Amino acid sequence: MVLSVTEQVYLNGDFVPRLEARISVMDRGFLFGDGVYEVIPAYGGRLFRLEHHLDRLDSSLQGIRMSNPLSRSEWIAIMGRLLGAAPGADQSIYLQVTRGAPPERDHLFPERSDPSVFVMARALKPRGPEIAEMGVAAITLEDIRWDRCNVKAVTLLANVLLRQAADDAGAEEAILVRQGLALEGSSTNLFAVKGGELITPPKGDYLLPGITRDLVLELAQADGIPYVERDVTASELADADEIWLTSSTRQVMPVTRLNGAPIVDGLPGPLWRRIDALYGGYKARVRCGDL
Ligand code: PMP
Repeated sequence: MVLSVTEQVYLNGDFVPRLEARISVMDRGFLFGDGVYEVIPAYGGRLFRLEHHLDRLDSSLQGIRMSNPLSRSEWIAIMGRLLGAAPGADQSIYLQVTRGAPPERDHLFPERSDPSVFVMARALKPRGPEIAEMGVAAITLEDIRWDRCNVKAVTLLANVLLRQAADDAGAEEAILVRQGLALEGSSTNLFAVKGGELITPPKGDYLLPGITRDLVLELAQADGIPYVERDVTASELADADEIWLTSSTRQVMPVTRLNGAPIVDGLPGPLWRRIDALYGGYKARVRCGDL
């Protein structure tokens, strides 16, 4: 499904065509990367894990000492209107809040709070069949990000460089390693499977508390799949039976090659098939309004 270039976006109180939306060059998002964002999928027009995303938005805003400029009902009304342009389609909402555009460039927070708010809806690309057939390749790279990775900040230069380095190496994603521990991907959370047990690094300052990550743990628990939240060393990862990467837009991706070597037989594993089916079932329930 292709959305037209005249589609509307929300910017600071107005709905305007996407290609005509403009922000000031003084915007602190532009000058400093001083803002936070969220990406929320919507299946069949229904927002997926909305409250979880809005809770994380609140904690990201708190993490950069901003308050939420809109109420939940205001956010929901904006998103509903944008999604309504392609009723029933699978889309994702991108929303961003920055610390606004004061008249002078100054590192210090502006005295008067006047945040910039931007929201758009984009078509959600369906997953290609090759993912379930072949999985994806990943490489490990040293984590060069800051130590507030739990804040979903628009300041994504390190993530951009890491993801590009993975792509340059023919891999889908970079798995980031800090002091010997594998933490998450450049835009995904990390799971490993060993001996039938699902392992994911614990939440903390060095990874984003992924909404998909939490859902995978919830689905695992409900289906009796044993799991543990604990550190995963880079060498343990290389020795895993399965590796998965999760995000709202890419769901649960099986990694079948790590640093050029196959994971076991180089094919998506049995536990991935099980979680993928559970995830698909959950999505179907969202789509028909059950959840
Ligand atoms: N980690 C990072 C660094 C990310 O950017 C993302 C996606 N925004 C994730 C993990 C996955 O989070 P979610 O499941 O909430 O999309």
